[in-house]
Amino acid sequence: MRIGHGYDVHRLVEGRPLILGGVPIPFEKGLLGHSDADVLVHALMDALLGAAGLGDIGRHFPDSDPAYKGISSIALLCRVRALLQVRGFSLVNADITLIAQRPKIGPYMPEMRRNLADALGCPEDRLNIKATTEEKLGFTGEEAGMACHAVCLLEEHG
Ligand code: MG
Repeated sequence: MRIGHGYDVHRLVEGRPLILGGVPIPFEKGLLGHSDADVLVHALMDALLGAAGLGDIGRHFPDSDPAYKGISSIALLCRVRALLQVRGFSLVNADITLIAQRPKIGPYMPEMRRNLADALGCPEDRLNIKATTEEKLGFTGEEAGMACHAVCLLEEHG
């Protein structure tokens, strides 16, 4: 068994769509980034790559590469799945905590979980998504950005 942790932050700006867990969410601002800036999927990918000893998403999908401009992070998650698969890793479980003051993401969680499970080719019950505010404190509380933590466990097949 191997454990991994991922953490990511993106700035909230006007004029960008808000995509979390591959789900477009109606909101007056969106996350800024080279890709679709899906902070939740980025934290999960870093946890998976970390557990596999494969570095981080910056190494595999550099934001200086025009190939990744505007790309769906769910598509990148599919590529991470392939990297894990060829090395004989499978996901035991992942637990993801999004930190955002607004909007409420509870109603979108089932669809996010389905998207992640589809991309990883695993049952939905291996994935858990939570969200919290930071009580209006700090950059998430001021709605300047969103943050996300993810931890995961991988199992190695001989
Ligand atoms: Mg990111």
